[in-house]
Amino acid sequence: MDKSPNDEHLFISLENVSLRHHGRIVFPNTNLKIYGNQHWAIIGANGSGKSALAKAICGRIPLADGKVTWRWHVAQPISNYNVALNIAPYEELTATYHSLGGQRVPVSFWVLPEDREKGEAFLPTILGDLRSLEEICGPYPFRAEKHGVVQTPHLGMEHQTVIAYGNAFREGDPPGYDWLHHHELSHEWWGNLVTCRDWKDMWIHEGIGTYMQALYLESRKGRGAYRAFMARNSRHLNRRAVASRSSS
Ligand SMILES: [Zn+2]
Repeated sequence: MDKSPNDEHLFISLENVSLRHHGRIVFPNTNLKIYGNQHWAIIGANGSGKSALAKAICGRIPLADGKVTWRWHVAQPISNYNVALNIAPYEELTATYHSLGGQRVPVSFWVLPEDREKGEAFLPTILGDLRSLEEICGPYPFRAEKHGVVQTPHLGMEHQTVIAYGNAFREGDPPGYDWLHHHELSHEWWGNLVTCRDWKDMWIHEGIGTYMQALYLESRKGRGAYRAFMARNSRHLNRRAVASRSSS
């Protein structure tokens, strides 16, 4: 839990709620699991609240004390570490993305009220990153549902169909584009569509997801930008086996 940058309201976000130890505190999860067609997250909340995931809600049950239990339904397979909760007085910005797969994909960006203008200016970046990754990886995996972005007090996370964004709209910073949104979105393919069976193979998510950034730079800025990115990241060269023999 945090305060908004101007200290006006609460800004609550659960990051990686199911990742290893932390998830077990919040949700009754064990290790990495993939679910299909599940009901998720039953939460007691003040009855006046709105849900950013209205399309996924399958139940709103008023309680005697004025609170409400919200029930969400997820139709497509999802891994447990991709479920999250964010609470703030968000404003929803919307757009439509035309997928290479032929579908019209609803896009929503939930921003803090004080960042609405910055959020509106950021929408073209969101649509551009979708197009760039579709050109490399194929149609957006969750095009039957939506692509969502939600502003968070932490840097970012690839929660399925609503990625967390906390990079403060720093599109001008090196490497010259908003790498955070691009990186988290890349996980919709590498992490959420293709998911490792065991934490020890997390390199599949992060390694290939990061490589997407090199390909993005090459497509936008040329071969030199690709080489510079790879050289910068060469310090991460593996000196030991990436995956241990035992499962975590
Ligand atoms: Zn990542």
